[in-house]
Amino acid sequence: MMSAPAFEAVACYYCGSGTATKFLTAEDDLTGRPGRFTFVRCRDCSLVYQSPRPTLEHVKSYYESEYIAHRQPSDWGWLAPLFRRAIESLDREKLRIVDRYLRLGPSSAVLDVGCGAGTFLAHVRSRHGCAGVGVDFMDLGDRPALRAVEFHRGLFYDQPFERERFNLITMWHFLEHDYDPMRSLAHAHASLAPEGRLIVEVPRLDSVTFRLFGDRWPGVQAPQHTALYDRALLLKTMERSGFEVLDHLPYGAFPPYFYLFCGTAFRLLKGRGLNMQKAIYAYFAGQLLLLPVLPFLKRRNLAMQTVVCRKAR
Ligand SMILES: [Zn+2]
Repeated sequence: MMSAPAFEAVACYYCGSGTATKFLTAEDDLTGRPGRFTFVRCRDCSLVYQSPRPTLEHVKSYYESEYIAHRQPSDWGWLAPLFRRAIESLDREKLRIVDRYLRLGPSSAVLDVGCGAGTFLAHVRSRHGCAGVGVDFMDLGDRPALRAVEFHRGLFYDQPFERERFNLITMWHFLEHDYDPMRSLAHAHASLAPEGRLIVEVPRLDSVTFRLFGDRWPGVQAPQHTALYDRALLLKTMERSGFEVLDHLPYGAFPPYFYLFCGTAFRLLKGRGLNMQKAIYAYFAGQLLLLPVLPFLKRRNLAMQTVVCRKAR
């Protein structure tokens, strides 16, 4: 039997056009697995996306145990407390953004799309008492934080949620991984309450770190990332999906320092892969060194962007 092809050509996610020009070629800089991955720019709408992309079946192997977002604190040995602190700080930053735009309470329902190990939902629950629902296409249902959550494994748009069920839907670094972002956003639109909020954070293509690192930019994250959004395309994507953008932030909850560190490391390693177990010492040392300036850099369009939306009237 012939095995199925591992890569497939795709049309533009935003406008459906099939004409595109090459944008960059990337390697799997994080793990060092072999392969060259191509990102193109749509000639009609200018969205940058990966084509050909790994098939959904094939990409799963890239998300297995080595994937940082899915690691457990215990995987880090004696560095576990530092890792746990980093996760807690990330969840606090996320909630800080949420709290600026929405008042949550015990009767609110929150959906986190691409919830990973579920720590953000656990945090929201402990702070505001709301019910949490998580979706992830990897099976992380055994994680402690997910035990108190309604966890759905699979693709987001395949989940039959009740219409207008959620007061808040969050997508923290989900959309740039999505194989059908317009369909996911349509599903989010249907699942969001009339006065609800949708918050989406993605890496920002028109950012300082992309200009610094180019094809070694951590935001490329080949081959998991399917599309790379600049500010204009992100806004257009939300508006086309029936949302009104209330605010666009030139930063996110995710620490830009991670991109500064990894981008520098990827440039030096040239595709050999980053051994996080070893690099983690340099990572925390660098963070300590930059501690005085990091708060000033945080909101300066270094790496991420976040949009806060409601349904358009
Ligand atoms: Zn296009």
